[in-house]
Amino acid sequence: MLNQLTISELATELAKGRASSRAATRACLDQIQRVESQIGAFISYDVAGALAQADAADQALAGGATHAQRPLLGVPVAIKDVIAVKGQPLNCGSKILGKFISPYDATVIEKLKAAGAVVFGRLNMDEFAMGSSTENSAFHVTRNPWDTSRIPGGSSGGSAAAVAADECIAALGSDTGGSIRQPAALCGCVGLKPSYGRVSRYGLVAFASSLDQIGCLTKDVRDAAILLEVLSGVDPCDSTSVPRVVSRYTESLTGDIKGLKLGLPKEYRIGGLDPEVKQAIDAAVAQFQTLGAEVVEVSLPHTDYAIATYYIIATAEASANLARFDGIRYGLRVDGADPIELYARTRGAGFGAEVKRRILLGTYVLSSGYYDAYYLRAQKVRTLIRNDFLKAFETVDAIIAPTSPTAAFKIGEKANDPLQMYLMDIFTISANLAGICGISIPCGFTKTPKLPIGVQLLGKPFGEETILKIAHAYEQSTAWHKEKPPLSR
Ligand code: GLN
Repeated sequence: MLNQLTISELATELAKGRASSRAATRACLDQIQRVESQIGAFISYDVAGALAQADAADQALAGGATHAQRPLLGVPVAIKDVIAVKGQPLNCGSKILGKFISPYDATVIEKLKAAGAVVFGRLNMDEFAMGSSTENSAFHVTRNPWDTSRIPGGSSGGSAAAVAADECIAALGSDTGGSIRQPAALCGCVGLKPSYGRVSRYGLVAFASSLDQIGCLTKDVRDAAILLEVLSGVDPCDSTSVPRVVSRYTESLTGDIKGLKLGLPKEYRIGGLDPEVKQAIDAAVAQFQTLGAEVVEVSLPHTDYAIATYYIIATAEASANLARFDGIRYGLRVDGADPIELYARTRGAGFGAEVKRRILLGTYVLSSGYYDAYYLRAQKVRTLIRNDFLKAFETVDAIIAPTSPTAAFKIGEKANDPLQMYLMDIFTISANLAGICGISIPCGFTKTPKLPIGVQLLGKPFGEETILKIAHAYEQSTAWHKEKPPLSR
């Protein structure tokens, strides 16, 4: 079935003329028809638009276009609802944008289209990417394809569930504190968060601008490398994107990691780690050693402060970024006697509880009198956290860690306990604070029920080549990534 293929497999089929992009796109749409009532990965999708792009790709293929020129030619890629696609709804999992339709393409979407991808669908997410379970979506809950009574992780839960359930070939997500890596781990796919500045954020609706980064969710590591090559690069529309050469990431996938040094942070040996997750990570560490990597202990002494630091900086930036949703410029409007009442009513009706909680917290830490005590201090601790990583990377090529402390939990289990939910990010958040890159790959399953577990590799700033190389070598020596949830078959 074409919807089950990876990007590289589908590209081969298309190039050899054994399949058409229309058939591949149709296969994804058929799978959506079949499983969406149980999964709910999408908020919406445009069938005619997807098929028209597929037909254009088939025409280009017939005209001699190749995947060397356009690496994603004919490949259906679905998009998290926080990235702007021209002519498509853009809601960020929220009600506040109303019936807003994006008037332009994000830079990553322009790049996907230039590479020939069939860009389709709006994937569900926690409202404004705030959450770890996709339960904070204003639309509906997304369910984990491995066990539909459980969450898919978040905030890119729709992206992870859609990839895991073969409703698309690959998906884009965004990661502010773990939102690509954690749902990838919980749904059994590959999730890559690039270094800050590697991929343009133009057209990504901002949650916390100094932490946000667009990345991808894929079925294997090679696909992540293919997508990163397409997405990366400096962009005049995003002054935080960095003018560094984009590597040929796929060329680093040699399978040979002999002599590379991996660091295990001693501070990540925490009590809350699920025993089955621990077992899977230990086995992954042993496998890296079998492949010839050297594993040593490293220290990240400021780890304990990461969650507190993140929730000050992320909420501060969010409170400023979300001020633009005012009922005047775009989206929902609830009228009032004067502009202030209109503003209050619109935001009262348009934002959900978690978004309001964060705006309150962020406004508080930025307010005069508290700014120095909270925000400024958090910025200083952030530098210490980044320095911890830079120091560790003087002796190791990458850091290994669990992606999430537990496998997927039950829907509703943590919904009323925000602090419990925030702890789900304990292993992912530091990478965003430090601006480094990270990838989560499948490394095992819990027994009953059978739920995916992910291992995370963290790399130097702009060290994507190295973590992709290591992740790929591990993946090729294991079979975890080949397993499919019962429902997708
Ligand atoms: N779960 C974290 C939060 O709620 C991270 C979210 C993200 O990466 N977008 O903020």
